[in-house]
Order: sequence, then C-alpha cells, then structure tokens
Amino acid sequence: MLYRSLNRISSSVNFETALKIGLADDGGLFFPEQINKLEKSFFENLQNISNTDIAYEVIRQFIGDEINEKDLKIIIKNTLDFDFPLVEIEEGIQTLELFHGPTLAFKDVGARFMANCLSYFNQSNSEITTVLVATSGDTGAAVANGFLDIKGVNVVILYPKDMVSDIQERQLTTNKKNITAYRVNGTFDDCQNMVKNAFIDKELNIKLNLTSANSINIARWLPQMFYYFFAFKQIIQSDKKLVFSIPSGNFGNICAGVMAKKLGLPIDHIIASTNANNTIPRYLETKTYNPRTTVQTISNAMDVSSPSNFIRIEELYNDFNLLKDNLSSFSFNDDQTINTIKRVYRDCKYILDPHGAIGYLGLKKYLNLNCNFKGVFFETAHPIKFSNHIEKNLNLKLKPPESIEKIILKKKIFTKISNYNEFKNLLLGK
Ligand SMILES: *Cc1c(COP(=O)(O)O)cnc(C)c1O
Repeated sequence: MLYRSLNRISSSVNFETALKIGLADDGGLFFPEQINKLEKSFFENLQNISNTDIAYEVIRQFIGDEINEKDLKIIIKNTLDFDFPLVEIEEGIQTLELFHGPTLAFKDVGARFMANCLSYFNQSNSEITTVLVATSGDTGAAVANGFLDIKGVNVVILYPKDMVSDIQERQLTTNKKNITAYRVNGTFDDCQNMVKNAFIDKELNIKLNLTSANSINIARWLPQMFYYFFAFKQIIQSDKKLVFSIPSGNFGNICAGVMAKKLGLPIDHIIASTNANNTIPRYLETKTYNPRTTVQTISNAMDVSSPSNFIRIEELYNDFNLLKDNLSSFSFNDDQTINTIKRVYRDCKYILDPHGAIGYLGLKKYLNLNCNFKGVFFETAHPIKFSNHIEKNLNLKLKPPESIEKIILKKKIFTKISNYNEFKNLLLGK
C-alpha cells in the first residue's frame, strides 16, 4: 500500500517508509492512496470471528505485501493480548472499555502495533531509529511500554510540565533503558510543535533516523480502527441506528472510526466529544477554523487545540456539509465532567474517568435529540490514572491495578527543557 502526503508535494511512500519517517518530507501527514470496502459477509459474521482475525482483515490492505500473513498475525496477536469489553451503563448506552492494556489507556494498541512493526522491519539491519513522541499524558506511557527493550529503537518523550497526572508522569519517567523523558515548560501543543520542527530540521535528519509515535504516524493511527469492529461485534443488533461518541483531543481515535465506516462498518453517526478545548465544535458551528490557546482541564489527555488528525477527517469527507451530516462535535467543561462522574456513579454504579465522562456527555446530548438511536462511547482510560479527581468526588478509594503498584515507588527521571534549541542540542548529544 502506498501513502501520499496531505501537503501534496512529496511523492508517495510504502508502509514501511511511512512508519519509519512518520511525517512526509513536505511536512504533510500520510494518507492511504486507496481505501477498499470489506466484503459484506465479513460484517454479517463478525460475532464468530476472533479479535485477531478481525484485526487482520481490517488492517491487511494497509500493509499490502510488506509483511506476510503469518508475521502480521503474530504482530496483531502480540498487540491485542487483553480484553475490550462492552459494558452497558443504562438503556441504549454502552461503553467500550479500552483501558485493559499495560498502561491503562487506549493508546496501548497503537503503540504496541507500531513497536512490533518497527521491530519486524529492523530485525535484519543495524539501524537505530529515534522515536519522538509528544504526549498529553497517555501516549508517552503507551509508547514507552510498547518500545521498551525493542532493538534498534530509542524513544524520546516530551510532556508538558504540571499538565499530566502523577501516575501518568511516573509511567513516562521511570522506564530508563532506551526511554528518555523531557519535561517541557509549556503546553502539549508546544511539545507537539517541537516534534514537528524536529522532523523538518535538515541537520537533525542527516544525523538521526527520526520517526514519531503520535497518531500522526499511520502505524499508531490505523490499528485504532479495530475498536469500532470489536464494539460492533458485541452489540446486539436492533432496528435502532448506531452512533459512537469518542472523547477526542488530537482526533486520531475518531479519525480511525471514520476510516472504519469507510471500510463498510455500519455506523450511522459519529460524535467528537471534547473538553473546553473546543476548536472543532466551533469549526462545525461557524465554518471557521480558529484554534485558541490550549486550556488545562481535568481530561488532560485531550488538552489539544490544534488536532493534528482533523485534516485526515476532512480528506475523508472532502465537503463541509457532508462532514457535518456524518459528524457532530460537542464541548463540555470540567464542572459538567465532575457532575457526570458523580451522577453516573450514583445512578448506574459505574466509575467513569474524566475522558470517558466527556464521551458519555456527548452521547447523551445526541441521544436526547435523536430518539431513534442507540450509542456506544469509548472509555479511554482507567479511572485510577485520575484518582485525585475520582476519589475526592466519589468519596471512595480506588484499588490500584498491579502495574501501578510497581511504579508508584520508583524515582522520576527527566530533563527539563523550555525551547526547541535545547531540545535539538540534547538530541544531538551536545
Ligand atoms: C489520547 C487520549 C484521548 C484523545 O485521543 P485522540 O486520538 O488524541 O483524539 C482521549 N482519552 C484518553 C484517555 C487519551 O489518552
């Protein structure tokens, strides 16, 4: 499969190259040259197919013959060795829990898939790849975990100071080995800009093989399509239409949903639920794309005001009105988030994390206006990652999963940086 640049200057590259360089030379995101619908019978039979086989069917056209069937299935098996349960919250509302992986947020699937693919392509050479990753909290942890001890790979994580939770920071800074963490005096968008600048910096690119493990990387972004199929497989079919609500920040996860729909998955509508960083809800309302300064919220993994992947969604719809017919976007503030966490716990005995709460709110809003729909929202992180907000508001103590107990006592190790030059010098070993 070939990938073209959305800036339309660089020529197309294959999967391996797109994975290894992350962003095209012209600074554009990669996008598949073709997207072929899957067979109807595949969807009708989904309940009877294993997650590995579903994932294989969904991703294979995007890899082509660059990884053979047997090895691709091994990569998928390694990626997906945990559960994706669909849980009913109340009538017509279910959540797909995506936090059962090693770092307790949905990013584990993309990070592990990418790490396994990179390791596959590097098995017979001595290349060293430097993976740069800007994180609003969870990506860095998933990437660190996925790439720890992977041969030929160094990982550099940039995260915004004081804007990630304590558990998130520990997951980023306690790995050592081939993982390095930089604490940036700025926002997630500042971290993301430093990474983007590094990719177009000629001097750096001559000396280092740089790639990104953000959802701008196709190998991180595309496997997220699996979730929509795993949810669909577990939904009891009825005559109601189906809507998904995705708590969105950089819009990679939701863009994977639009791709799943393009492959033929019968999704009737998709909702991008955001926190106070509401660039896209305002865009759909006013048709003007006008990002504001990022504001800090309790759903910190979504504190993004210029969502990188939105351009891919626009590419998929290619028309403002068509986009609006298929996608709604709503924004919610921290008070609404907290009130929802409290209410859902009181009425449904379900503990939402702040990101899932935003997904729930977006779905609820849509269902109130559209009674012929039922819906699924994604629960993207384990509530323990935000225990400071949850325990205080619900007046309870969460039991930490084993993976958290192990890191809670480790020392955080990071380097402080505040601008691009400092970052660049560190990368060059100066
Ligand atoms: C990254 C993240 C999101 C946002 O996902 P995008 O693909 O960036 O839109 C939502 N919730 C959690 C917990 C996350 O870690």
